[in-house]
Amino acid sequence: MEFKTIIEPFRIKVVEPIRHTTPAERAVALEAAGYNLFLLKAEDVLIDLLTDSGTGAMSSRQMAGMMLGDESYAGATSFYKFEAAVRDITGFRHVIPTHQGRAAERVLFGSVLEPGEIVLNNTHFDTTRANVEKQQAIARDIPIPEGTHPEVIHPFKGNMDLAALEKLLKEDGPRIRLVMLTVTNNSGGGQPVSMENVRAVSRLCRTHGKPFFFDACRFAENAWFIKQREPGYADRSPLEIAREMFSYADGCTMSAKKDGMANIGGFLALNDENWAQKCKNTLILTEGFITYGGLAGYDLEAIAAGLYEALQEDYLRYRIRSVEYLGEILTQAGIPIVQPTGGHAVYIDAKAFLPDIPPNEYPAWALSLVLYLVGGIRSVEVGTVMFGRQPDGREKPAAMELVRLAFPRRVYTQSHVDYIAEVLLHIQGLRERIQGVRIVEEPPALRHFSARFAPAHGTLIAD
Ligand SMILES: *Cc1c(COP(=O)(O)O)cnc(C)c1O
Repeated sequence: MEFKTIIEPFRIKVVEPIRHTTPAERAVALEAAGYNLFLLKAEDVLIDLLTDSGTGAMSSRQMAGMMLGDESYAGATSFYKFEAAVRDITGFRHVIPTHQGRAAERVLFGSVLEPGEIVLNNTHFDTTRANVEKQQAIARDIPIPEGTHPEVIHPFKGNMDLAALEKLLKEDGPRIRLVMLTVTNNSGGGQPVSMENVRAVSRLCRTHGKPFFFDACRFAENAWFIKQREPGYADRSPLEIAREMFSYADGCTMSAKKDGMANIGGFLALNDENWAQKCKNTLILTEGFITYGGLAGYDLEAIAAGLYEALQEDYLRYRIRSVEYLGEILTQAGIPIVQPTGGHAVYIDAKAFLPDIPPNEYPAWALSLVLYLVGGIRSVEVGTVMFGRQPDGREKPAAMELVRLAFPRRVYTQSHVDYIAEVLLHIQGLRERIQGVRIVEEPPALRHFSARFAPAHGTLIAD
């Protein structure tokens, strides 16, 4: 007998209380935070879906490993365990630890990218784009057309547009410094990339002599989708699939705060000797020596174990199903979300949910505020606030206005998910009364982290 119910594949050994607040208390907290959920105190949040980054629960095995952390400045045992794990999974020769994913990006781009050069990506994540632009280089997104239409169902919506890639490689060849594939495609809805697409991108890059890198933050979730959806992979393990995927590339940047199952950490891994040497020099300048890269020995231990835990089948089945379960409830209720649900998050399509709020009143930002006000749930806008500001200072509406509900790993259970669904269904009844917001104050880059806002029409929910 095979039972159908998918359970959380863990039992709970340590608990952390979460705190209920009243809507009145949350209204005060919102105003104090300049209507920016990044500026809230975490203790004022009931369920925190701001990000799945570094917010996961570690396993007893990871914690035990941390007690073995070797804190030697150079040549620590923990580094060699970390290096062996990364090499075993990715096959890349040079493994450079960094304190998180964006540090790997900065070290890579800061070492190899010249002003005016181009980086191609299915969709650049916000920090990836910012780190490319910091070098006065150009970050170009070339997702498949289906990738920018929330309602369109496609099994591998994270794929790169191969025709666009080939055209750009031919026309802009000399300016293109490298090609990246983000797996899964976070900013495009957490959508996976197929092995077939990976292979084709790799082939085109080889033909044109361009380095091909993964932004590998969710490589394990991507492997799970390939196993579920791509012909020929049903009987392969996520580890085997991940190894095949990495075998087509020249390197990767990684945030271990995602599929590294750690609270902090990341790495840059690559094959090219010359680039590795440049990157190691940059690393020593700003991150730390090459065997710790800004991490403690115990962090390296947690990541070495976590990379394998992220690839366990019962874990991946539970994780992807939890996200899909919330997506199903919302879809049945008629709440528009990015279809199909991605790996780490449900993305509400705020443009469709709040059609009367124009892009310059940031509909997804407004909806994320209402979700907090009504239910104490913290989400994040992935829309015009995050992406609308152009390098030249102009404002341009983002392709999609999304509210991302990201699931921390191994943290919440099904009753938490049921509560989230109930709150959203309640908000659906208020949707005609939800009002836009305006920006009061903003920094020059990555403005979503610290900009301050106010309701554009006096209140978030009209009477
Ligand atoms: C989180 C993330 C990054 C950056 O990693 P940090 O650890 O947050 O610096 C880069 N790319 C993608 C796709 C991500 O999800």
